[in-house]
Amino acid sequence: MINRRQWLYGMGVIAGAGTQIGNTAALSPTESPKSETHPTPLELSLYEPKSMLQVHQSRVERAKFPVIDFHTHISVSTKSKNGVELLPDRQYLGTAQELLAVMDRKNIQAMVNLTGGYDKALAAAVSKYDRQYPGRFYTFTEPSYSRFKAPDYPRLQAQAIEQAHRDGALGLKILKTLGLYLRENITSGTLVKIDDPRFDPMWDACGQLNMPVAIHISDPVAFFNATDRFNERYEELNNHPDWSFHGKDFPSNAELIAARNRVIERHPKTQFVTLHVGNFSENLQNVAENLERFPNMSVDIAARIGELGRQPITSRKFFDKYQDRILFATDATPHGDEFPQQVFNDQLYEIYYRFLETNDEYFDYAPAKTPPQGRWRIYGINLPDETLHKVYQQNAARLLRISV
Ligand SMILES: [Zn+2]
Repeated sequence: MINRRQWLYGMGVIAGAGTQIGNTAALSPTESPKSETHPTPLELSLYEPKSMLQVHQSRVERAKFPVIDFHTHISVSTKSKNGVELLPDRQYLGTAQELLAVMDRKNIQAMVNLTGGYDKALAAAVSKYDRQYPGRFYTFTEPSYSRFKAPDYPRLQAQAIEQAHRDGALGLKILKTLGLYLRENITSGTLVKIDDPRFDPMWDACGQLNMPVAIHISDPVAFFNATDRFNERYEELNNHPDWSFHGKDFPSNAELIAARNRVIERHPKTQFVTLHVGNFSENLQNVAENLERFPNMSVDIAARIGELGRQPITSRKFFDKYQDRILFATDATPHGDEFPQQVFNDQLYEIYYRFLETNDEYFDYAPAKTPPQGRWRIYGINLPDETLHKVYQQNAARLLRISV
């Protein structure tokens, strides 16, 4: 004879009652009471929970307005050491034809290739994309750190910006090399600070030539903490130990941001687009304070909708208030499959559009099996048309001085 409780359990009506059950014969093999008392450990990387939430699912195939993706990497340096690019030469990650196919489907008017290099390699990148497909591609230049040891580097670097401008670069990109990798002897010695005065002529040249500076400093703030069980990006750091800036001689996130702010303050005629939501998307209050302080600062949202979308109420207020200073951007990298949060494909753009244009709840921020930048999901912020238009297109067009 089984009692009512045992009968219900056997029918699967009572869940989690395994510890109280006496008659195991009523259980299916997968419902062993023993395993519920002493759960089998599950490797974190194997855990792929499927949400049982039944909520509205939108699909936004095309952006509501033409899009300028302000932050992409169509080409990258062919040689770097200890995080410092040593050659201007480029490796191209995608052909214009394959990029244009996705762009046309997703209503992407233009892609800005931030990592265009310098010298002849820059000129080659501009003629390969920008000149070949006018209005669809724009290229930025980068500093030539390999010349950093030259005694007249400050002047040489400013001249290199002028040359890049003549060659068709629309702006300057700063990777986190500055502040986290570039050292006095380029790849060795003490770290060079972001506000090192040797770069002042370069920032000024950008201002004089109306070339915005797209500046990436720092990284997610969790990358500066120990990779331990308290770290919200444990899996990501565990997969990429070289992304950790914990310990050694690395400055803190706060020090990096303070140094960047001194540069922005010292060069009020230069426009700075602080990438990845001012490199502090975990703290939009901090980003807002800096936007208030510096009229020559704006932000892009590249690779940070995972952060923005987990604080949708704060994010929506941030977009409402700074709608003239936020640029659409993804960090898209053609064939960058190992980083699903920035792989250039249709799916990636649809996720960004869904975040910006809908009220959808609890969806993946990256086209990946498990969330690659932390185990959470995001919520849409349903921006009004006027803001969308600015963020998708107009703010970037104004900064790049292109007519749309
Ligand atoms: Zn990037």
